[in-house]
Amino acid sequence: MRKNNAVLFIVLMLAQLYCFAQVKIPGQVYTSPDGYVTYVAGNLPLIMSVPHGGSLEPASIPDRACADCVTVKDAFTSELANEFLTEVFNQTGCYPHVIFNQLHRKKMDANRGIAEAADGNAEAEQAWLTYHQFLEEAGDTIVYHYGKGLLIDLHGHAHTIQRLELGYLLTAGELRLPDDSLNLPRLINESSIKNLALTHTGEKTHAELLRGEAALGSLLGTNNYPAVPSMADRAPQSGQSYFSGGYITDRHGSKNGGTIDAIQMECNQDVRFTSVERKKFARALYDQLFAFVSEHYLDPACLVSDIAEPLRHTPVTLLPNPANTRLTLNHVAKGSLLYVYDATGKKINEAVSITFESDKVEIDISVLSPGLYHLLCRTENEIKPIALKFMVLR
Ligand SMILES: [Zn+2]
Repeated sequence: MRKNNAVLFIVLMLAQLYCFAQVKIPGQVYTSPDGYVTYVAGNLPLIMSVPHGGSLEPASIPDRACADCVTVKDAFTSELANEFLTEVFNQTGCYPHVIFNQLHRKKMDANRGIAEAADGNAEAEQAWLTYHQFLEEAGDTIVYHYGKGLLIDLHGHAHTIQRLELGYLLTAGELRLPDDSLNLPRLINESSIKNLALTHTGEKTHAELLRGEAALGSLLGTNNYPAVPSMADRAPQSGQSYFSGGYITDRHGSKNGGTIDAIQMECNQDVRFTSVERKKFARALYDQLFAFVSEHYLDPACLVSDIAEPLRHTPVTLLPNPANTRLTLNHVAKGSLLYVYDATGKKINEAVSITFESDKVEIDISVLSPGLYHLLCRTENEIKPIALKFMVLR
């Protein structure tokens, strides 16, 4: 019996290793076997984490009963992250990495240490482990391709002041200090954007990155989404409610090392409670986050996607575009694998007919509905797949 258990353990471990080690295709949705955690793999140096937007309440996991446990869901944050994902794809044809906790916060809180998060339940502990493994995998992928990146930990607050609260692991009191104090090593060492502050090529100071002209809060503010800290609202005033960041920002940001910075973004109710407002805010978030990332992390050319570089050297063309019934993909290496996705990231290879001919590929798309599609071409010689977009018009 003991031997069987050992074999089973090894098989499970290998299955899990396989599951986490496989190369993930950008835009594909990977769900843990229990259905509690979802990871949309990305190809941009940007991660969005959604720890409190889940609604699953399986009876097999008792409600968390710890004395000070917060069990309130951050309403509509999953919906907002989905809007953001769609907006980024529509604008760039690329994907941020997005990790969703599908469990209700009553069952598991991914933004706490494991003891408080899972309250001792093994199923909830497994979901918690998976959530953080996906976050680590997203970070590792970004570091491999880009060297550094940004994690946004998305939340919703119910405070009366309708503003975004950006958390950098600095308390309201610390943010009320003058800029000179924020630029001291003591406070940079506490910051969730420590790596950015220490390595900034444009010589922006920590304080400028937090609330200068080019800070994320200031960019969102100019887009009519007031935020604290920002140029217009430098710090939460004494007595005002403010979330400064939590477990995820602390563990996965650069405070304790590494090159992934993190910002906890607490969204006020006005930006997330209706679908119209979520769409509007997702657009502003795309505009300003990309402005922030292009200024402080990478030049916009890299941002097109991690496949931009091979694309420049490989004269693969997809014609005509927009297309009606047929597409031709030219100069494709022999043995390439093709994947066609719809705008939601769902693979639809079975809906199209693909014919390989010497160095080109004919694709019959006559059954596809009008809209935007995404094609990935994986060749034997390139580590990164080539990504192309095409539009069906009729
Ligand atoms: Zn939250």
